[in-house]
Amino acid sequence: APPILHVENLRTQFPTETGLVKAVDGASFSVSRGKTVCVVGESGCGKSVTGRSILQIVDRPGQVVGGRILWRPNDAHEPTDLAALDPRGDEIRRIRGNEIAMVFQEPMTSLSPVHTIGSQIVEAIRLHTDLDADAARARTIEVLEHVGLPRPADRFGAYTFQLSGGMRQRAMIAMALACDPRLLIADEPTTALDVTTQAQILRLLARLQAEMEMSVLFVTHDMGVVAQIADEVVVMYLGTVVETGPTEQIFAEPRHPYTRALLDAIPRVGQRRRGRRLATIRGSVPGPHSRPTGCPFHPRCDYARPGTCDTREPATVALGARRHVRCVLAEEEVAVG
Ligand code: SF4
Ligand code: MG
Repeated sequence: APPILHVENLRTQFPTETGLVKAVDGASFSVSRGKTVCVVGESGCGKSVTGRSILQIVDRPGQVVGGRILWRPNDAHEPTDLAALDPRGDEIRRIRGNEIAMVFQEPMTSLSPVHTIGSQIVEAIRLHTDLDADAARARTIEVLEHVGLPRPADRFGAYTFQLSGGMRQRAMIAMALACDPRLLIADEPTTALDVTTQAQILRLLARLQAEMEMSVLFVTHDMGVVAQIADEVVVMYLGTVVETGPTEQIFAEPRHPYTRALLDAIPRVGQRRRGRRLATIRGSVPGPHSRPTGCPFHPRCDYARPGTCDTREPATVALGARRHVRCVLAEEEVAVG
């Protein structure tokens, strides 16, 4: 399938009192039409900022400072470079919520506590379409039903505080899908939920994606979630993409030491307790002002070579059409041929 989104050398930075934080530092990947791509890594690796950069909703004073975010690069018209758009301009507003929608870990990021679920969705629909009030209301009930809210006509007048966590998450997804987006960006939408509800929401997203022929960019720290929903995987570490590839290949034959560490840290059934998931990766993600020299993973890497990995940033090498790895081990493999 052709790409619907192509991100190239994306850089997003936050000026702070103690220096510039390079939250995304040269990330490249693409999302194919109708596929689910998972961006995975520990927290602090730039996954959420990458998702937010695509929609130009990075928290200020952070901003996209470089690279390209090509939206629908293969369509007949000129592709739009989202990275070049004014975050407050009309063009990105037209795309946001309409062509590309986003859902978050915390439903109250997008839902208001003081308006009914139904009225908020109606408003979102009327902002982006020509539907009149009655048609927007009918469409709202349709999407509430579509996301599995029982008695959708009754839920129309409900407030968020009247819904359970899982139902709130469904309502937020309904709002995101109301305008039939081509791409859904989902940032840890199941992380705050219990295991059963998490599984239900993941199944819901998979069903909606297939029915709506939508592409999904799913941000998560959890390789267990990746295994359930991803077609392709983008592994991020400290603002860079360290490995990409089809899910089966990533799981069967991880090539980057960080990917291996993430996979080794997947808890076995019965051990899925929060806060323990990444327990086996040695050390922790360095703070924003202590970025290591050379390969950013070298202080934690079991394969690190002194004199090489701590001084030189590895290049990203292609090990196949959709397989990329950024590590000296892969560089050498390609050089040997
Ligand atoms: Fe480890 Fe070196 Fe590869 Fe970095 S470049 S992941 S330190 S082996
Ligand atoms: Mg995050």
